[in-house]
Amino acid sequence: MTVDYLRISVTDRCNLRCVYCNPLGDSGFIAPREILRYEEIHRLVRLFADRGIRKVRLTGGEPLVRKDIAHLTARLSSIAAIEDLAMTTNGVLLEKAAPDLKAAGLDRVNISIDSVEKESYKQITGLDLLDEAVKGIDKAIAVGLKPVKINAVILRGINENQIIPLAGLARRLDVMVRFIEYFPTDRNTRPGSEYIPNSHIRKTIENRFGPLMSLVPGKSAGPALYFKLAQSEGAIGFISGRSSMFCASCNRLRLTSDGRVRPCLYSAHSYDMKKLLRSGADDTRILETIDRIIGQKRNFTKTNSFTEEFSMRNIGG
Ligand code: SAM
Repeated sequence: MTVDYLRISVTDRCNLRCVYCNPLGDSGFIAPREILRYEEIHRLVRLFADRGIRKVRLTGGEPLVRKDIAHLTARLSSIAAIEDLAMTTNGVLLEKAAPDLKAAGLDRVNISIDSVEKESYKQITGLDLLDEAVKGIDKAIAVGLKPVKINAVILRGINENQIIPLAGLARRLDVMVRFIEYFPTDRNTRPGSEYIPNSHIRKTIENRFGPLMSLVPGKSAGPALYFKLAQSEGAIGFISGRSSMFCASCNRLRLTSDGRVRPCLYSAHSYDMKKLLRSGADDTRILETIDRIIGQKRNFTKTNSFTEEFSMRNIGG
């Protein structure tokens, strides 16, 4: 498997408070001086690109709450080896930001939206900002940040009734709606009674809209499986991190907002790149560490046991 994808959490701060994402609540934020600076992120991406990274995703936290994110976008898009520069956002601030991001060289966005119904959107995210997120989707399509992908996490007893309305977006709009299986991120939520396997979500969609037709995976599909709905503009995707072992097709590394690289969401060990950068390490030394990380990634297999608690807002979802 080629390791060619780096996901970067640019901040652990977020403007939403999604119930399943934020086990630390409003505490435990990383001190600003511990967050990687833009020049540090740029240097790391340049070196990762030397070792085969071709796809970069900016995520968080919420990447659009970090100041001058378009500036970082422009710096990263100038690295010739990076062929695909994407962002995962909740979309709330996207209407305003999308034109600048497009101009800065961002290729595309994934927008997380777990409900198209105001009350349950508020129940999940803690804020009444559905209209803003929808405007963000429209703007992303309008400025050509394509393909626009919608990410949704479905939780038992909370937004199961949103499976059909969310899948319906792929019938009306030129978007890919992807269902991401919920995974618990701390000991309190294990094993996750809210968890619904994607097989159930697929059955629900097929019962309503008819059979899903399998699409040939694109070059950068990673572990996602894509399907077409009859008479639809868009597509449906499933990312089944809990119910299927997709280590063999996982091509991604994660850089946390405080500068650690995790070969896998579940790996116990992370590599402190910030310490290296700030201790004055030269490029050769950093490249040696990158080689070790990629070596470990190739050999990693998920055990399904959680070795430590982790926070998606720091690691980057
Ligand atoms: N703020 C941005 C957003 O909302 O897309 C980027 C960060 S968020 C952590 C990225 C993605 O991770 C979102 O699509 C979110 O639904 C997903 N996510 C967060 N916690 C999760 C969990 N426990 N299980 C499954 N997906 C999760």
